[in-house]
Amino acid sequence: MALIVQKYGGTSVGTPERIKNVAERVARFQARGDQVIVVVSAMSGETNRLIALCKEVAAAPDPRELDVVVSTGEQVTIGLLCMALHDIGIKAKSYTGSQVRILTDSAHTKARILNIDEAPIRKDLDEGNVVVVAGFQGVDEHGSITTLGRGGSDTTGVALAAALKADECQIYTDVDGVYTTDPRVVPEARKLDTITFEEMLELASLGSKVLQIRSVEFAGKYKVKLRVLSSFQEEGAGTLITVEEDQNMEQPVISGIAFNRDEAKLTVVGAPDKPGIAYQILGPIADANIDVDMIIQNVGHDGATDFSFTVARGDLGKAMKVLETHRGQIGARAFESDNTMAKVSIVGVGMRSHPGVASLMFRTLAEEGINIQMISTSEIKISVAIEEKYLELAVRVLHKAFKLDEA
Ligand code: ADP
Ligand code: ASP
Ligand code: MG
Repeated sequence: MALIVQKYGGTSVGTPERIKNVAERVARFQARGDQVIVVVSAMSGETNRLIALCKEVAAAPDPRELDVVVSTGEQVTIGLLCMALHDIGIKAKSYTGSQVRILTDSAHTKARILNIDEAPIRKDLDEGNVVVVAGFQGVDEHGSITTLGRGGSDTTGVALAAALKADECQIYTDVDGVYTTDPRVVPEARKLDTITFEEMLELASLGSKVLQIRSVEFAGKYKVKLRVLSSFQEEGAGTLITVEEDQNMEQPVISGIAFNRDEAKLTVVGAPDKPGIAYQILGPIADANIDVDMIIQNVGHDGATDFSFTVARGDLGKAMKVLETHRGQIGARAFESDNTMAKVSIVGVGMRSHPGVASLMFRTLAEEGINIQMISTSEIKISVAIEEKYLELAVRVLHKAFKLDEA
């Protein structure tokens, strides 16, 4: 007998029929003798609809109240799934995040899980119930409902698996595993049987939304066996996220390509080329709680230099305002902005032992006439900022150049 956490994403519970299919799958695991905890997302499109509704009544909705509204999507699906389970003779009980006491901090819309009280869940399981928990939500110490950020149901699943020391956490979604890149953009993308936590963490943080980054962090930290599978297929082992690197000599240098359209560039033109200028520019940006992603400072001429950095598109207006407010202190000639940037990243632990990866990436993009505006690297990834209109082309040619379409 195993204890399994199964998380079903929005598309997997998107219609009554699909909810019934989920119930059938859960029943099969229970019939095998497993104890099952199910975490569900809201029906697909529902979270977007609720956010849009909030924005119709207020330009900048209060984050606490936003969480009150947005968390209702998952409350609907836990009830529906339990009804579908009851209908086929399975004992099941639903819980919202606050009922099951998924305790979080108070950072509304992006809260972090602090603790989960596992005792009541274990009691229900031991009494033969399937326990169905609303993903994406928790409660803070004041009793306020919180949400965990977009895609946060993955993190609920992994956190429950960690708290209850489950044998496996299965993330059921609309693709049958983690691919070399988003299969919706590159049809030749290949499913990976395994991928390391390190690589999955990079892919998730660089834009592959198949797993929320915090769920991968959590699984790595608490050694949760994590697997991504399709909710639309009966069979298939999906992709296992592993600690070990594949010892296979034939392992490719690059495991995957991630991309992100959510980048905007700000350029400080003609800033004085003197010590402390990066701090003068980025200090106020950090104070305004704006995350900076890529940074580039050009070689100075005649005592002046151009300094560019990227932020999430939603933060562009705020970041420009901050720069304007500090215009005197920065002493630059002008500020420019561009919200048509995108970032493409290649990721692979194999990079550590293979030289020439960057040059192949840059040559491939050059051959297509794609201009690289910024570059950033870590031990296992290289990211470039390019114009958004070249994004899909860039991903496709890199996928081919690194032979990711070859088995
Ligand atoms: P869910 O609603 O089940 O949580 P998501 O939409 O959050 O599903 O994540 C699944 C989607 O992630 C897929 O439909 C796919 O388009 C996208 N995706 C992006 N990168 C990858 C990748 N490398 N492998 C698999 N899917 C990916
Ligand atoms: N429903 C939430 C979202 O759309 C959480 C999730 O699906 O993981 O972001
Ligand atoms: Mg998701």
